[in-house]
Amino acid sequence: MHPWIADRTAHVDSSGIRKVFDLAAKMKNPISLSIGQPDFPVPDSVKQAAVEAILGDKNGYSLTQGIPALQSKLQTEIDKLGHADRKVLVTSGTSGALVLAMLAMVNPGDEVICFDPYFVMYPALVGMVGGKIVPVDTYPDFRIDVAKVAAAITPRTKMILLNSPANPTGVVATGAEVRALAELAKQENVALLSDEIYREFCYDAPLLSPTQWNADTIVVDGFSKSHGVTGWRLGWIHGPAPLIEKMTMLQQYTFVCAPHPLQWAALAAMEVDMTPQVNAYRERRDLIVSGLRSAGYEVATPGGAFYAFPRAPKNFASGSEFVAKAIENELLIIPGKIFSARDTHFRISYAAKIETLNRGLDVLAKLAAQ
Ligand code: PMP
Repeated sequence: MHPWIADRTAHVDSSGIRKVFDLAAKMKNPISLSIGQPDFPVPDSVKQAAVEAILGDKNGYSLTQGIPALQSKLQTEIDKLGHADRKVLVTSGTSGALVLAMLAMVNPGDEVICFDPYFVMYPALVGMVGGKIVPVDTYPDFRIDVAKVAAAITPRTKMILLNSPANPTGVVATGAEVRALAELAKQENVALLSDEIYREFCYDAPLLSPTQWNADTIVVDGFSKSHGVTGWRLGWIHGPAPLIEKMTMLQQYTFVCAPHPLQWAALAAMEVDMTPQVNAYRERRDLIVSGLRSAGYEVATPGGAFYAFPRAPKNFASGSEFVAKAIENELLIIPGKIFSARDTHFRISYAAKIETLNRGLDVLAKLAAQ
């Protein structure tokens, strides 16, 4: 390692997802079921609002906390929770919100509990601030067992990370699970951070947020997935005012503000009904789950997001061996081990055209039958 590189980067490797994208770039006609972003176009009114903001010279810094119009529109939604002291900060994507939360809340040596499989950024970010990630295994059905979480809590536990609907499994936590987790966090005086970026993509029932049972829950959310604007870097975080005030100060010295003209477009985004897009994704969820099951794959029902996380067929030694074979067949999927201590599963994103999904299912059926 180069002598100038800091120790905190030691466990930071290039994301395995990027490696699959690099392979894809070399293929002629890949079947890409690997990408974590919606394939629908950004609604015209939202694009128009971005153009108008740029042409209207809204290109300088905004207030650190966000343009007042967006901040107050978000605050109005958040106030519906009925919590006395809950504030919001507009951030550079949900990722920016996560970075600020870690910087503001996790001390070196603090433990942060997350559920395995987990979103790739969680262990990386916790590691960067000197925290220790404590994974709680959720295989094979990816349900939350609150007794396991209680057993993982120690005097050093600072935070529990919840992500529902989840990346990479698509599983949505039940009301009973979320409630028990929210109450446990409250009882143990541990921070509960709820990553609700896939909130809009719930196919069987609306999302139940732990904010309902724990008024100190910190929530991160964003426009990336809901409106197909992953490149715009727009998100927000809300929680107890003293925490959000500290994160706002940290934002002054890091991101400065979220992209200013795009915050105006976010106001327009909040006016758009995304139900048709969500309905289209529900159909694709149904197609992919029934296709996988009829080909013999074991897969937990994904109630949300746009991922499924099946087990690799038994005739393959590991999830990554299976993914290598799929990639030889031009099918791009992501090995489960980048989201997990286990190497037994793989992630499919069904944010793709029906025709692509069918081509992908054909390859998967062929591989399972080998
Ligand atoms: N949380 C989860 C669970 C995600 O899957 C993602 C994106 N893949 C993010 C946060 C970050 O999203 P963004 O920074 O684009 O808002």
